[in-house]
Amino acid sequence: MGPNNAKPNAKPDSKAAAKPHADPEIKLTTPLSNVRLITPRQADLLGTLGLTNVGKLIAHLPLRHEKLEAETDIASLVIGQIVSARGEVTATRPVRGRKPRFEAVILDDTGRLDVVWFNAPYMRDKVMPGVRIRVQGKARKHGPGVQLVNPKVDIIREGEDPAGRDERVRPIYPANESITSALIERIIEKIMPFALPLIEDHLTPQYRGERNMPALADAYRMQHAPLFMDEVFSSRRRLAYDELLMLQLGVHMKRAHLRERLKAPILKFNPAIDKHIRERLPFTLTAGQEAVVKDIAADLSTATPTNRLIQGDVGSGKTVVALYAMLMAVAAGRQASLMAPTELLAEQHFASISKMLAGSRVRVELLTGGTAKADRESILSRAAKGDIDILVGTHALLTESVRVKSLAVAVIDEQHRFGVHQRATLRENASDETTTPHVIVMTATPIPRTLAITLFGDLDISSIRGLPPGRRPITTRVVSSEDRGEVYDDIAARIAEGEQAYIVVPAIDPSEGAQVGVGPTGPARDLRTVMREVQEKWLAGKRIAALHGQLSRDTREQVMERFRLKQIDVLVATTVIEVGVDVPNATVMVVEQADRFGLAQLHQLRGRVGRGAKDSACYLLADPTTPEAQQRLTVMETVNDGFILAEKDLEIRGPGEVFGSRQSGLPPFKVADLMRDRELLAMAKRDAAAWIAQSPFLGREHEKTLLRRLVKAYGEQLGLGDVG
Ligand code: ADP
Ligand code: MG
Repeated sequence: MGPNNAKPNAKPDSKAAAKPHADPEIKLTTPLSNVRLITPRQADLLGTLGLTNVGKLIAHLPLRHEKLEAETDIASLVIGQIVSARGEVTATRPVRGRKPRFEAVILDDTGRLDVVWFNAPYMRDKVMPGVRIRVQGKARKHGPGVQLVNPKVDIIREGEDPAGRDERVRPIYPANESITSALIERIIEKIMPFALPLIEDHLTPQYRGERNMPALADAYRMQHAPLFMDEVFSSRRRLAYDELLMLQLGVHMKRAHLRERLKAPILKFNPAIDKHIRERLPFTLTAGQEAVVKDIAADLSTATPTNRLIQGDVGSGKTVVALYAMLMAVAAGRQASLMAPTELLAEQHFASISKMLAGSRVRVELLTGGTAKADRESILSRAAKGDIDILVGTHALLTESVRVKSLAVAVIDEQHRFGVHQRATLRENASDETTTPHVIVMTATPIPRTLAITLFGDLDISSIRGLPPGRRPITTRVVSSEDRGEVYDDIAARIAEGEQAYIVVPAIDPSEGAQVGVGPTGPARDLRTVMREVQEKWLAGKRIAALHGQLSRDTREQVMERFRLKQIDVLVATTVIEVGVDVPNATVMVVEQADRFGLAQLHQLRGRVGRGAKDSACYLLADPTTPEAQQRLTVMETVNDGFILAEKDLEIRGPGEVFGSRQSGLPPFKVADLMRDRELLAMAKRDAAAWIAQSPFLGREHEKTLLRRLVKAYGEQLGLGDVG
């Protein structure tokens, strides 16, 4: 069962006990093999779908519903309408030729109906003279009579279904080769009268009434045996809302809990400190940066632990905002940390922060997986003593318990790779009994609002609007691989002008090909091949270097440093350069096999150029084979705004693909759909906030069931274990 559904050990309520035919044995936890209404064979078949007990069976929701029309006599069928009728098959005829088809004639007491199925030779084994069938389809005129083309068909077995059917909505279940949807439907129908009364609702009638939602048991009934299509919609709305509400409650509860128990250091703030920090920054902040700095300064000067997401498009200048926050910690005599998703990005941050702070007394260190053991130990012990002011690093900082003496501000860059869970870990590692750092997370992939409030429901959100002054737009073009020559000509010309280039490839080795990227499978253009080609053919004589994750940190740093110093013209790189790399003189990028990358990723990559005062170009080399891939690339040509791109990416590929759910902590919803249910999500978020404000620990009597389900669903993920 899903997080929001009835719990197996629910006690039968009085209504169930009163039911005359109720099987007194049955509970939601009862194994299907012990249920008298279900044969051992059926229980086995249901088992193949993982449906092992009554509760799970009831929670097995239909994928979709089909509308079955009320049956009418053949004589009263109306041309042009969807109709349903039954009769005996009196003649059949397969017709070969250009449009192979199977024709049948059906008679009832009132008349004759012609039926035809195209490309359905198997009908011959099903629809035979003498068999009674029911057909549904659109009636059309056929000579003097009526014909149905490609109707849906049911065989009516001897003695079965004697009465004509009224209009009905039929559930279509996820099924498999062992068990059909129809059989699942029959079994669920039998068991529902006994199972439904066992389902406790975790929402009160009043709460449901205010939102116009059915009771939980009714919602299940409406899914399994809807009387009208409207019931399908309203029950779906209830079940989707439950999922969304449950997550939002968990997130808000976690947050309330954090606020109650943990305090963050109050970082004093005044104009002198502000001035002091600004003197360190190499430029004037943009209006967008100013607004966010203001939010942060307000956050950090209270004891409430900050949880703020800073959204800002690629190149909007998030690093300096992070630096501002970290310097507030340093000014208060405490420590700060900055975490990046890749070593390369950590190295970049370390380099640029060290540069900005050169000549100050602020002590900055870098700690990554690649840090030599001796250095590592020294860094760890100095961090623990408070002898490092700003510690920059990778996940290593987060996952291994690095103790920073008095960590006041923890910045996480590129939040989309960190989930709620990782942040909880960070807090645990960094907290002593009562104090916890302020956490600021930054994302350069603007996350569509819908997802933002789901994934980061416990975060406040600020956006850096606009880009630093003097940026030139990037021209993006999708080019077929046949025209690779043109692209490399442009690169050669730019290099001749003293500019620099990136070439991005989807794989390091040819062997990597098959698993890489989102697009087609098959051989990927790999780094070694592309290196060879450009060296020998397209860009012969230019200074070309490779950059990828398998190089040692030293080599990588050297390569980046030489690229910054313009000793290298072209970097042939994997997506290690996706985030953070900042070389304004690089003005052109080629992405090989661009259809293998997601939109958000392409936008990130593209953000490596367009950082200086010159016009930049981004060439996406691709031969898209599907309309979807074509569509994605075309969007890149026309849209430069990362926020819109991210929305489009989500629309085209769906959240599961865009944010691998393991990576992002995206909850697996059974019913709710983040794109479709935006309004419901906003409602769940509002409701959860109000609820937790009133009852932070869900300790009231009527909240018992809700709390139990919440802890079961998200307790571990959100670290709510000690709450429930
Ligand atoms: P991102 O938001 O992608 O992390 P960065 O922080 O790397 O962006 O900043 C991108 C570039 O813009 C850097 O070269 C940085 O020095 C520059 N930059 C940031 N803020 C400003 C500003 N206010 N004025 C001028 N340049 C800025
Ligand atoms: Mg950045």
